[in-house]
Amino acid sequence: MQVLVLKGISKQFQNEQTHFQALSDISCDINKGEIVCLMGPSGCGKSTVLRILSGLESADTGTICGSEGNVFDPVHTAMVFQEHGLFPWLSVYDNIAYGLRMKVRKIPNEQITQKVKELLTLVHMEEFANALPHQLSGGMKQRVAVARALAIEPEILLMDEPFSALDPFSRRELQDEVIRIRDVLGTTFFIVTHNPEEAVYLGDRILILSKRPSCVIKEIQIPCKRP
Ligand code: ADP
Ligand code: ADP
Repeated sequence: MQVLVLKGISKQFQNEQTHFQALSDISCDINKGEIVCLMGPSGCGKSTVLRILSGLESADTGTICGSEGNVFDPVHTAMVFQEHGLFPWLSVYDNIAYGLRMKVRKIPNEQITQKVKELLTLVHMEEFANALPHQLSGGMKQRVAVARALAIEPEILLMDEPFSALDPFSRRELQDEVIRIRDVLGTTFFIVTHNPEEAVYLGDRILILSKRPSCVIKEIQIPCKRP
């Protein structure tokens, strides 16, 4: 089942006198529970694609549909950045609970407590609930960032080079975590990476963007590598 269908997405950035075509004609579709890696040269528009999907930017032209052909709503996404972006003054627990506590969600306290506990277990951070971000390693911080993103139960988790600030060991650990979360929760992942080895290890499919014009030039289906 498709959860995301992009057709002919373009985006220009205007400066004083000039305009810059950041995306020319992006079309792709993503299925539920798929891990799709987005690659391409620096400046080809990968982050812009994620920012449009997360609602931080709007596209100039094109359509984005969600499941069953409905107009896609960025509320179904959550974003994880290269540098975790945790609130430094909040504990691991409070970082994860942050989105759930927003008044508009009207989630009862007991439910929030239960949900945060589940997420702490999911990313193996139960013992660090009361730790502050600066007490954690890079890999642990990214796991908390993933838990925080998952708290709002997004259909699609958008990740912008989530592993590139990590050492090779933590990187592989977090990659395995992503695969496990997909297997357990059925979350769809759209991940920007510069690393081909990582894309092949992690991805079910790799999309490659060209720079001028910025469009999808190649789709590589990765043969199933896990039983
Ligand atoms: P990538 O993630 O592939 O490196 P980006 O999506 O960050 O590429 O950027 C694509 C192009 O759009 C870059 O050339 C960048 O300089 C330009 N760009 C991105 N955001 C803005 C902005 N807010 N204003 C002007 N230009 C931008
Ligand atoms: P990495 O292997 O990712 O580079 P480090 O080993 O350098 O990480 O540092 C993180 C280690 O510090 C973790 O393995 C963890 O055992 C320990 N640690 C981090 N935060 C806490 C905390 N709040 N209380 C106790 N130990 C902690």
